[in-house]
Amino acid sequence: MKRAVIALIVAGTIALSGCSLITFESNPATSSTEVTEISEETNGTSAPAESTAVDTSSAETTVTETTVISEETATAETTAVQEPVPAGKVVILATGGTIAGVGDAGKSAGYRPGTLTAEDLISAVPELADVAPIEAIQVCNVNSDDITASVWIELANRINELSKDPDISGFVITHGTDTMEETAYFLNLTVKTDKPVVITGSMRPSTSISADGPMNLYESVCVAASDEAVGKGVLVVFSDLIFTARSVTKTSTYDVMAISAGETGACGVVRDGAVYFYEESVKCHTTATEFDVSALDSLPKVSVIYFSVDMDPGILRYAAEHSDGIVIAGAGAGEFSEGYIEVINSLKIPVVISSRIGDGIIIPANLLCDGTVAADNLPPQKAAVLLRLALTKTKDVSEIQEMFFKY
Ligand code: ASP
Repeated sequence: MKRAVIALIVAGTIALSGCSLITFESNPATSSTEVTEISEETNGTSAPAESTAVDTSSAETTVTETTVISEETATAETTAVQEPVPAGKVVILATGGTIAGVGDAGKSAGYRPGTLTAEDLISAVPELADVAPIEAIQVCNVNSDDITASVWIELANRINELSKDPDISGFVITHGTDTMEETAYFLNLTVKTDKPVVITGSMRPSTSISADGPMNLYESVCVAASDEAVGKGVLVVFSDLIFTARSVTKTSTYDVMAISAGETGACGVVRDGAVYFYEESVKCHTTATEFDVSALDSLPKVSVIYFSVDMDPGILRYAAEHSDGIVIAGAGAGEFSEGYIEVINSLKIPVVISSRIGDGIIIPANLLCDGTVAADNLPPQKAAVLLRLALTKTKDVSEIQEMFFKY
């Protein structure tokens, strides 16, 4: 068998403004690289699709092409060149984080997150072109601690819109690891597609020794392009492992394997680009939820209040004045002091009881206050995501409790 592999490696900087969608496509017929600007968002409006051949003499755009041809010795019987099977496009939505971080050469700490663009991330992994045609959207470029509900809603709405395109087979979101689990869980409850939606990031900035971003991005695109990932809800891919959005959490401030899933564990593995699934979530997600954010530009406000020994419960009154709901990160199985009990009993907004302990479950029998909601096994930060969505539908605590068991 004789096989010619043509790789076009695109390097350089492409100036962008606002949110734009860029297509990287190799065109073996002309050996040129085409950059397609699909949409540009300014003040919430979308420009019509437009396709422009790259002018390599342009001042803002530098595109370098390298053609690599490798040959395998042909057997006597087989002479036809094997055409690659065309895969659907994977859209990468970049939001920033350490994966887009830049710092002192070789160092792992003290860098600037959210610095590299989507195109920079893609250019660093030319192997992506072997997996699927890639399109990129720069949604924002921030430390993930600055992600807001409006970014979540924009991501959900863009994915919901783009997923109608039959040429698109999946999505990858690059994101900071600090709040990746919250974005993943929000999207798991609000995207309305069976197409794979994968979130990834990195623990080491792009300039560190042995940066983990390129491999995480590559493996995420492999999962997003995989038929196996269809209908599994939003997934997080990190350090060769695949996690469901509901169970994934960050468990270390520095470890390159900081993303895990506690008692639940990973649901799959990626090895050399091959995707292996072993488990899936039994909770309702994506197309099976009641949440619709298409007409929203913000979410109800929820405060997460930690409990620790001898804390002033007055903070609960302050939080209630500034929030539509509260999540308590209680001790043990969602417990707290008599002072907390007294104030919580007086509050007029929904209060969800979770635990400051990473693993575990809280059921109604654990509740110290009537009229509060047990978080099941959701940690406080994810309970806050679900409570914000629940409050878009109802303020009734028994209905909210049902949602905590369902999702
Ligand atoms: N602070 C960074 C962020 O969440 C950490 C990371 O990405 O690993 O954006």
